Amino acid sequence: MTHDPSARGSRSRLLKWLGLTDEEATSEASSEGAGLARDVTAREIWLPAKRRLLAKVADFLIDHDLEVMPWTLEIAYDCVTGAKPKLAQLILERTEAGQPITIVWLEQIVREQEGESSSELLAALMARLEGTLEDFTSATSHARSATTEYGAALQQHVDDLEQVGRAGAVITELAALAKAMMHRTREIEQNLTESERRALELQSSLDEARRVADEDHLTGLPNRRAFESLFEKEYAAAKASGEPLCVAFCDIDHFKRINDSHGHAAGDRVLKVVAETLSQISDARCHVARHGGEEFAVLFRALTPEKAWDRLDHARETIAERRLVNRATDMPFGRVTFSGGIADVFAYKTRSDALRAADEALYAAKQSGRNCVMMAVQTPPPLEDAA
Ligand code: GH3
Ligand code: MG
Ligand code: MG
Repeated sequence: MTHDPSARGSRSRLLKWLGLTDEEATSEASSEGAGLARDVTAREIWLPAKRRLLAKVADFLIDHDLEVMPWTLEIAYDCVTGAKPKLAQLILERTEAGQPITIVWLEQIVREQEGESSSELLAALMARLEGTLEDFTSATSHARSATTEYGAALQQHVDDLEQVGRAGAVITELAALAKAMMHRTREIEQNLTESERRALELQSSLDEARRVADEDHLTGLPNRRAFESLFEKEYAAAKASGEPLCVAFCDIDHFKRINDSHGHAAGDRVLKVVAETLSQISDARCHVARHGGEEFAVLFRALTPEKAWDRLDHARETIAERRLVNRATDMPFGRVTFSGGIADVFAYKTRSDALRAADEALYAAKQSGRNCVMMAVQTPPPLEDAA
């Protein structure tokens, strides 16, 4: 037994941090086979907690049938410790929807999450810079107009002074001073004009940076973040005008096989072709975006669900009819098809509910043999309360 006062102090601090009483700590240690009640070491307190954590990590990997690899261990650790709540939530939602947690799906989600956090940060930074720049441009422009007006007034006074015939030495000196001030004012005016020009130039670089941040590099389509803000805008516009709004998800069928047989670079080219064909249906009220991986999201405003379905199904047929050939090897890709799920947004309470419904319809399309577009099964709208 130790009687070292500093050891006792650090022990009680450790217990306090762990949220354990002295008794609980002793019983944790004795249940670990420590036997007789005695002072326990930090190691003895931590051991059961470590075992529980490792068991949870192992259960996660076993339950989801995932291989034990450094990054799957990291994901399991992040999920069971709550270090990445968004990731844990996505895994839970997918499991509840009865879909498997595969390595491929995890890779995609992790990539998206990483991309999301950096592009969100960039977007926030750009918004701040844009605000500051706008303030600066307007302040510069006001200052320049004020300087111009001041310069004109000063010029008038100098002219008046020079007209005075009996100008004595004092007035002559005053006129010289005023001239010097006028000269300086013109310089300031020029500097302000230059600052204003530079601010406008920076503003246009910023607009370009925003466009790049919203764009998927491979296909040139709006990326997932841009799609989310498009969805928000179109939702508000459709709600205000009373127009219908539909949202769809499209996912290339058996895309993994294309990558496996032709390589990732060829897979990228196929993705671009599908993106180009799909984007042909877009216009001012129909937006096609790359939602991630080999999945696309489409918004249709001002089209009834039936018309939106027709338009998407036509794009599906167009792609399915093409016979793509790998130009690097002259090998045919075989028939490239996609499956789609579409939902009538206002048939659901929230935008997230509509997205979920479109995703479920896509899953149903995959289940029913792929290369088809399914309309989401709508739940009847809630009954109005009787007045
Ligand atoms: P399903 O019909 O069920 O959708 O089958 P699938 O093979 O298309 O679906 P799965 O989710 O098993 O595989 C998707 C593949 O898409 C795996 C992933 O590596 C690949 N992928 C995702 N993003 C890209 C990309 O940017 N380029 C390439 N070449 N492949 C990608
Ligand atoms: Mg997919
Ligand atoms: Mg797919």
